[in-house]
Amino acid sequence: MNNCIFCKIIKDEIPSAKVYEDELCFAFKDINPQAPVHVLVVPKKHAASVLELCEDDKELLGHIQLVIGKLANDLGVAETGFRVMTNCGKDACQSVAHLHYHLLGGVQMSEKMV
Ligand code: AMP
Repeated sequence: MNNCIFCKIIKDEIPSAKVYEDELCFAFKDINPQAPVHVLVVPKKHAASVLELCEDDKELLGHIQLVIGKLANDLGVAETGFRVMTNCGKDACQSVAHLHYHLLGGVQMSEKMV
């Protein structure tokens, strides 16, 4: 998508603190971190949210799960624990319309999800 900020980050048209990249996905530090470790993992293929995914994306999504596990190890939160979340739409306060998974860790989080 032409005007998508995460597409521009993936194409290196906007700078980011990249932590990982492969042929299917890209990961970078959140510019406004909510935890000591706060990384966004995004598919290179543009989809606004999980609502735009289809059957053909199953392999991509499985791949992203594996990358998240690898990053949790690399970033040192695999032992202590971490949270993975994706926001979709208004009530979830999604602010960037390119599917992304927040990987949060390095702090004791609340049991509450909302
Ligand atoms: P969400 O609110 O779930 O859509 O999450 C979007 C996230 O993207 C927020 O946590 C923002 O801090 C983060 N963000 C927005 N612009 C940038 C950027 N240029 N570089 C890194 N993170 C960003």
